Amino acid sequence: MSSRDERPAAVGIDLGTTYSCVGVWQRNKVEIIANEQGNRTTPSYVSFTKTERLIGEAAKANLVRTPSNTVFDAKRLIGRKFSDETVQSDIRLWPFKVIAGSGDRPVIVVEYKGEEKRFVAEEISSMVLNKMREIVEAYLGTKVVNAVVTVPAYFNDSQRQATKDAGTIAGLNVMRIINEPTAAAIAYGFDKNVGSRGKKNILVFDLGGGTFDVSILTMEKGTFEVKATGGDTHLGGEDFDNRMVDYFVEQIKRKHKKDISTNHKALRSLRLHCEKAKRVLSANNVYEAVIEVDALYEGTDFASSISRACFEDLNMDLFRKCLMPVEDCLKTAKMNKSSIDEIVLVGGSTRIPKVQQLLQEFFNNKELSRDINPDEAVAYGAALQAAKLNGEGTRELTAITVVDATPLSLGINIKGDIMSIIVPRGTPIPAKEEKVFTTSRDDQTTVTIEVYEGERTRTCDNNLLGEFELSGIPPAPRGVPKINVCFEIDVDSILNVSAEDDCAGQSNGITITNEKGRLSEREIRKMVRDAEWYRSEDERYRKKIEARNTLENYAYRMRNTMRNERADTNLSYAEVRNIEDMIQHVLSWLLDHEEAEANEFEEKMNELRSVCRRIT
Ligand code: AMP
Repeated sequence: MSSRDERPAAVGIDLGTTYSCVGVWQRNKVEIIANEQGNRTTPSYVSFTKTERLIGEAAKANLVRTPSNTVFDAKRLIGRKFSDETVQSDIRLWPFKVIAGSGDRPVIVVEYKGEEKRFVAEEISSMVLNKMREIVEAYLGTKVVNAVVTVPAYFNDSQRQATKDAGTIAGLNVMRIINEPTAAAIAYGFDKNVGSRGKKNILVFDLGGGTFDVSILTMEKGTFEVKATGGDTHLGGEDFDNRMVDYFVEQIKRKHKKDISTNHKALRSLRLHCEKAKRVLSANNVYEAVIEVDALYEGTDFASSISRACFEDLNMDLFRKCLMPVEDCLKTAKMNKSSIDEIVLVGGSTRIPKVQQLLQEFFNNKELSRDINPDEAVAYGAALQAAKLNGEGTRELTAITVVDATPLSLGINIKGDIMSIIVPRGTPIPAKEEKVFTTSRDDQTTVTIEVYEGERTRTCDNNLLGEFELSGIPPAPRGVPKINVCFEIDVDSILNVSAEDDCAGQSNGITITNEKGRLSEREIRKMVRDAEWYRSEDERYRKKIEARNTLENYAYRMRNTMRNERADTNLSYAEVRNIEDMIQHVLSWLLDHEEAEANEFEEKMNELRSVCRRIT
């Protein structure tokens, strides 16, 4: 065991679709770190204004004011193509602009300081990661570089790679990418010391803001093995908010004869209030929530209320929908309801009493594990894993071993557009699997190996990860050459594929890192430089605002002193005039120089201070 003083901290970051959370191993336990507003989760939002870049709470608060420049949901874009069906349907709902970039990559377009700026999802996520890093740095008072970052279990290879790239752009060393349910199970298992007495089956039910994931893991003596994963990438708290918004839009139509359904500003404002009301309705013994929105439309205030029963009725079909992936997962893991020992709740939306009730009833009234904070479980587990990889911690921590599984089957395209699976879905990783193939034409000297992931029989329905050629195969009748294809997946789920001709000894291979959607090394280097520039711009802006506020506060304080305590200062009339003129001059100057730089505010401060020396 070693202490924090000897090595830099390694942190665990839950990079969420709507909120992110960060934890660090401190004094033999995990600390979840609160942001500057005292909140232990931070909105995964970045907002650009005429003067500055905002990340987290301030960015989310800016959504109503500058919707087209406030970016969120980057996790829904990361590692995906612009033409993806899900990307296309998401774009329709977002207030910010997304266009197709090179290689069909989605590019987010915003205006920052009056200029158009373009970002890929990795850059937006890197800004959120950097914010989380700053939150821990402020708490620890030291620099943080090493991090474990979590991703949903269903994330494919490109989404994992892209998340890792986001970490690199943020200047982090991503020690490991781990699955969110695994992290939650680690947190739970560690906290409860589960698995020290025999094997336990844990079901992780993760209902967040925009996504729903279910996983079944087994845990035995510190080893976590993922048995099945499932879920819905478009189901979560935001859908429940939307149902409530629709309800009030209808109510306004009925009662006030006003249709606000096309008024985006009003809808955004109403949605923020609905989300708050939804949270209120989850509290014990609260059965009604009040909604009050000032100037919702045409300057009219809106006030109403909603009961818990009504909220549940609006969402009952969605709540029930959450049970389907649970059944699927049980089937995949070949388990029945009664073999689940622990049901771990993760994600803010699992606080909804009806969701808990339905889940509990599904498991024949088995108690749900409520001891661990659902918003923090993933970051908690990631922080444990980070500490372990960093060589810190107790014996129990060192004993944690994670055996993750492949979320999707991996294979290659064979004649007839057929997916030949080499690594089946659910294979524990790291993994190495081989399969022998042959040629489909006489005297064929070159084969193209196309690597796919997915569960469909036809490769065209699956996701192409990359391709390469194996040439130099000695001419022979079709079916004679033996081509050995090997798939190797490392602990970060990163795939290497190689092919070798048995007879000629020719070989070739790829690491699935350079397919079209992925950022190149050069692009990443440029983005790292850009990220540093944005950070220094933020810092410059922060210093400027600080200097401005210091000067303004000082000027007003001196004016008050002159008003209230002048009689005690023995100043001559001329001196009083001189000081008062200077204070007035500074206050007017401040009004005319909003955009001045920190050093100009500081210079003015020095001038004012030297004049006011006599009264301080
Ligand atoms: P996550 O992405 O896991 O942080 O979950 C965020 C989602 O949980 C958002 O949709 C929140 O509105 C929702 N949420 C947070 N707290 C509560 C609560 N007390 N009741 C209902 N939903 C909540």
